[in-house]
Amino acid sequence: MKDRNFLDTVMEFEQQLESMQQQFSALKQFVAHMMEEHQTLQTENLHLRTRLEELLASEANTGKQAEELKKESVDIGEGYDNLARLYNEGFHVCHVHFGSSRKGEDCLFCLSFLNKQNG
Ligand SMILES: [Zn+2]
Repeated sequence: MKDRNFLDTVMEFEQQLESMQQQFSALKQFVAHMMEEHQTLQTENLHLRTRLEELLASEANTGKQAEELKKESVDIGEGYDNLARLYNEGFHVCHVHFGSSRKGEDCLFCLSFLNKQNG
C-alpha cells in the first residue's frame, strides 16, 4: 500500500467513525426521550388507576352508580336512535366516512359501529 493511499484510508476511516459517533449520539437522545415518555405514561397511568378506584369506591358507597348508569343508557339510546336514523337515511355514521353518502350501499364499518352502540 502506498503512503498516499494509506493516508486516504485513515482519513476515510476517521470520517466514518465521526459519522457513527453522531448516529450513536442521536440514538442515545432518542432512547433518553423514550424513557422519559415511558416514565410520564407510567405515572399518568398510575394516577388514572388510583382516580378510577376512588371514583368506583365512592359511587358504590352512595348508590349513585345505578342512577348514573340508568341516565347514561338513556343517553346512549337516544344517540343510537339518531345514528341509526342517519344511517337509514343513507349516510355513513362510521368514523371512516362519517356524514358522507353511502350511495345506497351497506357499510360494514357503520354496521359494526351501530352494533357496538346498541350492545
Ligand atoms: Zn360507513
